[in-house]
Amino acid sequence: MQKNEIYQTIVDDLTAEGQGVCHIDGMAVFVPGTAVGDEIKVRIVKVLKNYSFGIVEEIIKPSADRVEPDCVYYKQCGGCIFRHINYKKELEIKEKIVKDAFERIGKLGPAFLPIIGCESRKGYRNKAQYPVSADKNGKIICGFYAKRSHRVVSIENCILQPDIFSKIVDIIISYAKEKKISPYKEDNNTGVLRHIYLRKGHYSDEIMVCLVVRKDISRELKGLVKQLTEQVTGVKSIVMNINPKQTNVILGRKNVILWGNDTIVDIMCGNEILISPLSFYQVNTPQAEKLYEVAKEFAELTGNERVLDLYCGAGTIGLSMAHEAGSVLGVEVIPEAVENAKENAKINGIGNAKFICGDAGEIANKLAGEKMLPDVIIADPPRKGCDEQTIDAICKMNPKRIVMVSCNPATAARDCFILSKKGYITEKVQPVDLFGGTGHVECVVLMSKVQK
Ligand code: SAH
Repeated sequence: MQKNEIYQTIVDDLTAEGQGVCHIDGMAVFVPGTAVGDEIKVRIVKVLKNYSFGIVEEIIKPSADRVEPDCVYYKQCGGCIFRHINYKKELEIKEKIVKDAFERIGKLGPAFLPIIGCESRKGYRNKAQYPVSADKNGKIICGFYAKRSHRVVSIENCILQPDIFSKIVDIIISYAKEKKISPYKEDNNTGVLRHIYLRKGHYSDEIMVCLVVRKDISRELKGLVKQLTEQVTGVKSIVMNINPKQTNVILGRKNVILWGNDTIVDIMCGNEILISPLSFYQVNTPQAEKLYEVAKEFAELTGNERVLDLYCGAGTIGLSMAHEAGSVLGVEVIPEAVENAKENAKINGIGNAKFICGDAGEIANKLAGEKMLPDVIIADPPRKGCDEQTIDAICKMNPKRIVMVSCNPATAARDCFILSKKGYITEKVQPVDLFGGTGHVECVVLMSKVQK
C-alpha cells in the first residue's frame, strides 16, 4: 500500500474516537468522518507498519447509520465526533466502548445494563469554555479547538450550548476589540484574554461569566460588567480568573469578583447546589441526575450506612444520598469545592454530611488508619482514575460495596481489575450518556466484597 493510492472499500468498524475503519489487503485503514457500512473510495494519506490512514474521496453508497450533520462547524471542530451518525447508533457504539473496556482491559465479566441516552444531542451543556485567540490577521477570535490541535476555530454558535452563551461571547469579544484587550498567545505566554468561561444553571437559569486572563485587568473591565448586567438576563456572577502560567490548564488559582456573587446556584437531585468557578459540576444536569440515581440504587442504602464520597466536588452525589444514609463524608482536593459542599449541606438542611479538603488517597489512608469503616464508598475520580494509594486505602477500609462513577471507562476498568485482585467482584455496569454527539461516555459500576 502506498500514499495517494485510491481504493474502493466498505467501512466495517469504528474506533472509540469515532474514526471509521476499513480493511484493505489485510491492513486496517482509519478513515475519519465515515460510518460502518459506508461504501467509499478512500485515498491513502499515511502508511505505517501495521495500519494506515486515509481520507474519503467519494462516498459511493452511504451507510444506513448516516445522518446529515446538524452543525456547520462539525468538520473542523474537535468537540463532536458522532454528528454524522444517528443517535441510536451512537449509543450502541458507546455501549460497546464501555463493554470492551471492562472485558478487554479489566478482563471482567459484569452484567451490562442498557445505556441511558440523552433526550437531545443539542443544547444540553450548562458550561462552556471558549478559547480566545487571534486569526491570521491578528484579529481577536473565539471558538473551539480544531480536531487534535490547539488552533482555535471561530464559532458563533455551538449547538451543545444554551443559545444565550453566543450573545455573551459576542458582547465580550466586541468589548475586547473596542478596548484593544489582546488575545492570549499560548506559544510565548503573551496577550491577556485567554478563555471565556460560562455557566448557566439548568433549572435556575442563573448565569456565571468568568473571564480567564493572564494578568489583572479589572479596571479595563468595568464597562464590560455594565454591558453584561444590562443586556443579559440571569447574570448573577461576573468573575475574573487570573492564570499567569504558560500552560494549557484553563483556570488559574486566583479569582477576583467583578460583580455579584462568587457562586451561582442550581438544583441537582432536588438539592440547591452552589457552585464556584473552580468547582466541578456535571455539564449535563438532567443526565447527571439519572447518573446519581443509579449510583444511589447501586449503593443499596437502608438508612444506616456510613457513606464515604471520594472526589466529591461540590458534594452533589453524597448530598443526593444523605437522606437515605446514616452519614456521608466527602473528600475533595479543591478548597472552593469543599466550601461549596459544606454550604450546600447547610442550605439544604442536611445535618449528617461532612466534608474534608485534601487528596483522596492521603485522606482515605488517614481515615483507614483511624479505623473508619464505611459501609459504602463512592469513587468518582477524574479521567485518569484512582491512584494506587487510594485503591489500597479503599481496601483497608473494607466497605461492603464500592460504587465507582467514571467519565473514562478505560481507567474505571483498570481500577476495577486491581480491585478484583483485592477481593471485590465487579457486579454490574450502567453506561449513561451525558455527552451526546461527542466521544465521551460516563458509567456507574457496582463492586461488592466477595463473601468468604
Ligand atoms: N463527584 C463530583 C465531582 C466529580 S469530578 C460530581 O459528581 O460533581 C472529580 C473530582 O475529583 C473533581 O472535583 C476534582 O477536583 C477532584 N479531584 C481530582 N483529583 C483529586 C484528588 N487527588 N483528591 C481528591 N479529589 C480530587
